[in-house]
Amino acid sequence: MEKIVRRKSRQIMVGKVAVGGDAPISVQSMTNTLTSDVKATVEQIKRQEAVGCDITRCSCPDKDSAYALKEITKQVNIPIVADIHFDYRLGILAAENGAACLRINPGNIGSSDRVKEVVKAAKDYGCSIRIGVNGGSLDKRLLEKYGEPCADAMVESALEQAKMLEDNDFREFKISVKSSNTLMMIDAYRKLAAACDYPLHLGVTEAGGLRTGTVKSALGIGALLMDGIGDTLRVSLTADVEEEVKVGYEILKALDLRHRGVRIISCPTCARRGYDVQKTVEELERRLSHISQPLTLAVMGCVVNGPGEAAHADFGVCGGHDENMLFIKGKPARKVKDEDIVDELVKLVEEKISA
Ligand code: SF4
Repeated sequence: MEKIVRRKSRQIMVGKVAVGGDAPISVQSMTNTLTSDVKATVEQIKRQEAVGCDITRCSCPDKDSAYALKEITKQVNIPIVADIHFDYRLGILAAENGAACLRINPGNIGSSDRVKEVVKAAKDYGCSIRIGVNGGSLDKRLLEKYGEPCADAMVESALEQAKMLEDNDFREFKISVKSSNTLMMIDAYRKLAAACDYPLHLGVTEAGGLRTGTVKSALGIGALLMDGIGDTLRVSLTADVEEEVKVGYEILKALDLRHRGVRIISCPTCARRGYDVQKTVEELERRLSHISQPLTLAVMGCVVNGPGEAAHADFGVCGGHDENMLFIKGKPARKVKDEDIVDELVKLVEEKISA
């Protein structure tokens, strides 16, 4: 089976996290608290960190939010991207107060002098920048030229904004060309990937709730990753922020691009199942969500496919008539009762990671 060959991109730093080049594909999320509420924002970022978030983003719609970054960055371990729209002074303030990256579109902030000032602040404070083009907010000139939002208009916008930063001798930036239309977003990223070597931040914007957003993101982000495109990603979900990170990792795991935490292979169950597979999987996901070490569990209902899947997993269980069989490193180890399956597997995982 051939591995995915990644596009060769430039590498930039978002705080301590490398993005692009041969760096692992980072998983991002965003807070939805008021950034000026330091306590609530720190608590949310800690929850994101616990499930493996590499970089988070906080909106900075006002000065209080930009100032709050100073205290927030002291209390968390992952770099923060300050999300700025229109007001270049907030970008400068965010850089001064600890933002590792500014999500700001040079095309939105007015004169070239303002762009110069933001770039100067980014250079002075070691900030990178994300140019974030969104299909839903393209400027009027491009909409008139192309007649409607489309991939070409998004790519043209992204390259124009990249040029504004290059003209200021600044290349520490990544680009996103997001759309809520999955096909349009795939097209835009493919075209942009062919037109430059900047690292690309992938995402389907306004993707929807947990189910819809997961499917759209898996298809959009997944299709691009399979092409080797993408250096960092955010799954946008109208759901708990931890879910965005978990789904991001699931996409990377499914493509063998990055592994974190316990991967559970489980069957859909049928009349042959020997125990309650669904309840077991739900319980295992809950009890093992804190594990960051990559491990595979096979949770299978019966002997039809159970031993085959368990053969490639670190640990597994396969349903039987009276008792079920526990597998360790692919080999049958011992019998286990229905009510002990979860405890036995959790114990095995915890022993392995503490060994
Ligand atoms: Fe049914 Fe067994 Fe297949 Fe699970 S592994 S779906 S229980 S046949």
